[in-house]
Formats: sequence, structure tokens, C-alpha cells
Amino acid sequence: MSTFARGLTVEAADGEAFRRAFVRLIGSIDDLHWRIRLTVAVATWMPCLLAGIDIWNVDLVLAGVMLRVVLQHMYAGRPLVLPLVVLDAYAAAGEKLETPLAECAECGYALPRSFAACPLCGGFVGVGAYASRRARRAACN
Ligand SMILES: [Zn+2]
Repeated sequence: MSTFARGLTVEAADGEAFRRAFVRLIGSIDDLHWRIRLTVAVATWMPCLLAGIDIWNVDLVLAGVMLRVVLQHMYAGRPLVLPLVVLDAYAAAGEKLETPLAECAECGYALPRSFAACPLCGGFVGVGAYASRRARRAACN
């Protein structure tokens, strides 16, 4: 098992699935500049993430976002997308990105806290919103 930023992990047997999802995500980004920037950020900063080197900059944030989206897709069924509006928000937040991230109450997609509505489905966005909604649903059953 490898540990990525802030407790995200991938089982060794899932390496090929991780690579395929990562390539699909990069290929889905409809902007060459962003595809290059994200690829370079991940190639540059993944070794630092794996080594636990505690450096915090905008490209490390972007590399972490890529890894988070892929792993949350693989292990939690979250959407495998990174819309340009979301990338722009992460880049704008950069080193000042607030954690924990907010999440969509409907689809669970993680987002910077600057979003009030999910750009994927229009759902309410807030810190813990998805988990709270799931807990309320479970309580009703
Ligand atoms: Zn959503």
C-alpha cells in the first residue's frame, strides 16, 4: 500500500486501475495548458508526496487534487472529472487552500470552499455536506 497526501492510499494491486483512471482524467481536461501543467505538477511533486516532504505550493496542491480525484473515484465512486472552473479555483486558492475541503451534498465531489453550488450537479456544497446528508438518510431508514 502506498500512502499519498493526507491519508489517501492505493493498494499495490490497484496500480493499473489507478494509471488508467489518471490517464482518463488528464485526457478529459479540455485545455492543453491545464493538461501539461497538471502532468508536470504530478510528475514533479508526487515523489515529494510519497516521501512525506512537507512543502506547500500551488503545484503541490494541484498534484494533490489530481490524486484525490482519481482515488476518490476508484474507492468511493466519486466523479472522475476536473472542470476548468474547479481547476481555476484550486489554482487561485493555491497555498491558502482551506482544508478540509467542502463537498457536494448530492454527488460527494470535493471542492474548494469558495463553491456554494456543485459545478457538476448543482447540489449544495459545504464542509461535511455529503457525510451529513448520508447520515440523515440512514437515520430515516
Ligand atoms: Zn455534485
